[in-house]
Amino acid sequence: MASIVESGVCKTGAEHLAALRDGRPVYIDGERVADVTTHPAFRNAVASAAGLYDFQARPEYLERMTFTPDGGGRRINRCWQKPRTYRELVERRRALVLWAEQSGGFVGRSPDHVASSLLGQVLGIDVFRRHGERRARALLDYFDYASRNDLFLTYVIINPQADRSKAWGEQDEELVAQLVDEDSAGITVRGAKMLGTSAIMANELLVANLQPLKPGEENLALSFAIPMATKGLKILSRKSYEAAAVSPLDNPISIRFDENDALIYFDDVKVPWERVFVFRDTDMCRAQFHDTLGHTFQNYQAQIRLSVKIRSLAGIAHRLAETIGTAGMPPIREELGWIAAQAAMVEGMVAGMEAEGHMQDGYWVPNKHLMYAGQVLTQELYPRIIDKVRSLAGGALIMLPSSARDFDSPEIAAVIEKTQRSPAEDRVRFLKLAWDAIGSEFASRHTQYEMFYAGVRYVTCAHSFRTYDWDGADALVDRLLPPARS
Ligand SMILES: Cc1cc2nc3c(=O)[nH]c(=O)nc-3n(C[C@H](O)[C@H](O)[C@H](O)COP(=O)(O)OP(=O)(O)OC[C@H]3O[C@@H](n4cnc5c(N)ncnc54)[C@H](O)[C@@H]3O)c2cc1C
Repeated sequence: MASIVESGVCKTGAEHLAALRDGRPVYIDGERVADVTTHPAFRNAVASAAGLYDFQARPEYLERMTFTPDGGGRRINRCWQKPRTYRELVERRRALVLWAEQSGGFVGRSPDHVASSLLGQVLGIDVFRRHGERRARALLDYFDYASRNDLFLTYVIINPQADRSKAWGEQDEELVAQLVDEDSAGITVRGAKMLGTSAIMANELLVANLQPLKPGEENLALSFAIPMATKGLKILSRKSYEAAAVSPLDNPISIRFDENDALIYFDDVKVPWERVFVFRDTDMCRAQFHDTLGHTFQNYQAQIRLSVKIRSLAGIAHRLAETIGTAGMPPIREELGWIAAQAAMVEGMVAGMEAEGHMQDGYWVPNKHLMYAGQVLTQELYPRIIDKVRSLAGGALIMLPSSARDFDSPEIAAVIEKTQRSPAEDRVRFLKLAWDAIGSEFASRHTQYEMFYAGVRYVTCAHSFRTYDWDGADALVDRLLPPARS
């Protein structure tokens, strides 16, 4: 397999941008995109992703952000690091926090998300060995390739929604991605997967099936990885909030961090056997995430990233109250105190996942139940926090200039100066940011993301139910029970 390992101490933004000019089949607004690095719908988000690699290459962050993999070679991001101790897990998290801080936590599928999933899957490689030595070898080789090249991976692990009253295997033909052929070189896949967040700016795509499959649905039961420019792949972008952004002043977050979501269609995509990790085994699709540590590590990363985002929202809430002069009022302090407590709760849960982790096969791994508890609590928390911040704002987020261009007109600028407390432009700059974070179409997509990226509520609650120490809780009930009257 061709290596893209280059000289230099670690991967840089320029390298990432060069790799994205590969003719990937991205479509938006009825057209095929020639180059995602320059297209107005994607270029800033792509530049932000590239910026993560430049960040890790900075001398003052290199040690904190990267490590040298076993066997040597270039330094790579710590998201690929298998933590041998509690301390290494914490160091790894600190690197993930630094990356998340570059976007205030607004990029959900930064490169550390799927890297964390693959890391967890490889820590459970014996699960794949039971499925077949060749499939396990393929995954190990892929992990080696992806990590040594510090690849940005994204994944599609959920099927298109279609008709939820039917099983996946009963959906219309060619809807759900499935096996349509196999030969000595590999497999051929046709059909769709729901959404590949960050697909437009990742190097490669991991495909899998997280939703339960039934016997008889073996053709859907696949997992594999392919480069984004693979023949037959179609990446159908949703509306671009970056393209809809008016200016850096008007939409300071969405203009830079609209990571994008895209429907992924496989139009008879051929995948070589050395890239196939799960083949026609419905239970192995579940085991890939749940019997390994894949699901644990990917969602532990998601909670780390979310802790940064909630901290950003807490900062916005506090700045809002200061901007409109309510910060000193006891009822507003009460609201801010509630928000601060939630931010601390999310950070505390992450710290708990680490401290309550355990050694498994030589590695310190996060506590699974605390991770699921975090998921359940935060998918409800996110819309509540947004609601709280809105309630602190009143009309301040709406009583704003139509766009930055209003400042160019001396006549309008004079009225803005009188009606926004001075310095008017600073106030407008912040209030526009707050609206972009909590009220814009981009912000609304974020609420949908935080409510659903980890699965619907009944799914996350089922994981919490499955992993809780019910015996320990039941033992307490026994202790409280009065002795039986014999
Ligand atoms: C912004 C965004 C980005 C995403 N990015 C990715 C990505 O990068 N990769 C990826 O693989 N996936 C991605 N997803 C998909 C995400 O994982 C799914 O949306 C999520 O798992 C929920 O599945 P669903 O959308 O099919 O909803 P459904 O499961 O269809 O749920 C929709 C509603 O129907 C109800 N419902 C459906 N079936 C039942 C039932 N049997 N019993 C009771 N209630 C039911 C649910 O409770 C819910 O209220 C993304 C989603 C969003 C919104």
